[in-house]
Amino acid sequence: MEEIIMQKLKILADSAKYDVSCSSSGASRHNNGRMGNAHAAGICHSWGSDGRCISLLKVLFTNKCEYDCEYCINRRSNDFPRAAFEPDELARLTVEFYRRNYIEGLFLSSAVEISPDHTAEKILQCLELLRYKYGFAGYIHAKIIPGVSQEILHRIGLVADRLSVNIEMPSSKSLQELAPQKKPKQIFAPMRQITNTLIEHNSLVGPGTMFKGQQLNTPEHYLSGPETGFAKPVHQKAGGPKDSRDFRAPRGMFSLPEMWEQESIQLPAQKKGSFAAAGQTTQMIIGAGGESDKSILTTSENLYRAFKMKRVYYSAYIPLIKSPKLPDIHTQVPLAREHRIYQADWLLRFYGFTVSELFQDGSTDLDPDLDPKVTWAIRNLDYFPLEVNTASYEQLMRIPGIGDRSAKRILRQRRYSAVRFDDLKKIGVVIKRAKYFILCCGRYYGDRKFEPEVIRSSILQMESGLQMSMFDTSGAPSIETSQESQDVGRLAI
Ligand code: SF4
Repeated sequence: MEEIIMQKLKILADSAKYDVSCSSSGASRHNNGRMGNAHAAGICHSWGSDGRCISLLKVLFTNKCEYDCEYCINRRSNDFPRAAFEPDELARLTVEFYRRNYIEGLFLSSAVEISPDHTAEKILQCLELLRYKYGFAGYIHAKIIPGVSQEILHRIGLVADRLSVNIEMPSSKSLQELAPQKKPKQIFAPMRQITNTLIEHNSLVGPGTMFKGQQLNTPEHYLSGPETGFAKPVHQKAGGPKDSRDFRAPRGMFSLPEMWEQESIQLPAQKKGSFAAAGQTTQMIIGAGGESDKSILTTSENLYRAFKMKRVYYSAYIPLIKSPKLPDIHTQVPLAREHRIYQADWLLRFYGFTVSELFQDGSTDLDPDLDPKVTWAIRNLDYFPLEVNTASYEQLMRIPGIGDRSAKRILRQRRYSAVRFDDLKKIGVVIKRAKYFILCCGRYYGDRKFEPEVIRSSILQMESGLQMSMFDTSGAPSIETSQESQDVGRLAI
C-alpha cells in the first residue's frame, strides 16, 4: 500500500479516536510466522445487535476543519498534522483491508473542510466508488455533517447502512458556547430527514422496545423545555396529528419553525431497506458543558421520541484542551458517570422507565454508587415486594436483577408450574439484587430489614465485594454474569 495513504491513515485514524460509536483496538503487532497482523491505526471493534464482534476501519475523511469547536482536537485553531483522503484513496484502502480480512466494515466520519457540502460530496464519491466500482458489500456507518444538503444526505443514505448526525452538546446553551458555528437547526434538519426517509421506506428500526408504539409528532416529544433549551413550543394546536407516520409539524408550532419549513425534495422511490437500513444514531459529549445527568437524559429521551434514534452514544469528555470554557485538563475523565448514563439510557429504551421517574425525588444527577434501576427501586419500596408468580411483565422488568430474558422465562414457566426461589437462578435472575424486592410463592427471601437504607447498604456491600472479586487471583472468575449486566455493557454499532 502506498506510503502516502498509510501516512494519511495514521493521522486520520488518530483524529477519529474520540468518536465513541465504536472503540479503537490500539494494538500493533507484526506477523512473526503466525497468522494475522494487528494495526493500531483505525481498526476498531463494535458489537452487532446479535452480540457478534465485528471490526471496522474507523477513520476521518479529513481533519482539516473550518470550525473551531472548543472541545475538539481537530478544531481549526489547533496546530497539529492535517490530512485528507481523496475519495478513491479511501475506497481502495477499505477494499484492500477487507480483502486482507482486517476489517468487516467502514466507520467514516469527517471534519468540515471548506463547507459541509464540499466535504459530504467527497464522502459520497468515496462511498459510491466503494459500492458501485469496487462492489464492496460490507457494513458502512457514515457520519452526516450538520448543514449538508438534502440531496447529498439522501444519496449517502442509499449507500450507507447506518447514518449518524452528532448532536455533541446536550443543550443549546453549551452548543452555542462551545460550538458556535453549529446551529441546532443544522443538526435537527438532517435527523428529521433521515427519520422521514426511513418511514417512507418502511424501514425505521427505532430505539429499543419502549418508544416503538409512540407517536412521532406530538409537541411535547420534541426537544423542548427547560432541561434542554433546544426548542420551546410557541403555541400548540389542539388535536395534534392524525397519522403517527406524518412527521411534519405544523408551521409555527415551535420556536425553530424554520427547522420544519424546508420543502421536501422529490426523490425517486426506493425499495425497502435500501436507505440506511441500520437506522440512525447520535453522540453526546458528557462533562464538557455543565449539564446535569437529568438534562442529558432528557435530551436523549426527546431524541428517541422525536427522531426514533436507534441509539444515543455518550462520550466522557477527555480534557486535552486548555480553555476557560472547559473543565481543567487535570479533571478526571467522567467514565463512571458515562457508565451510569448508559445504564439509565438502557432503562429508557428497554425497561419502560421515563426520565422523570428516574429523577422523581428532585435530584438532577444519578447516584454514582448504584445502578439507576436499584436506586429507583429503593426510592419506591412501596411498589415492592412483587410476587414473581403474579407480577406482569412490566412489573417484573422493574425488579433489579431481572432483565427482559429472565422476565420472559418467568412468564413462560408460570404457564406450567409455580416459579420457586430455586428456579430463579436457573432462569438467569441475579438473586443477590432481586431478593430484596420479590416474594416467591408468598415468601420474602431478603435477609435484611425491608428499609431503604438497610437494603441500599446491603447491595452496596455486595457490589463492592463483586468488584473486589474481579481482582481475585486465587481461583476461577467469580464475577456474576447475568443477561441484565451483559446487556448494559453491550454497544450496538
Ligand atoms: S466540526 Fe467536528 S471536527 Fe471540526 S472542530 Fe467541530 S467537532 Fe471538531
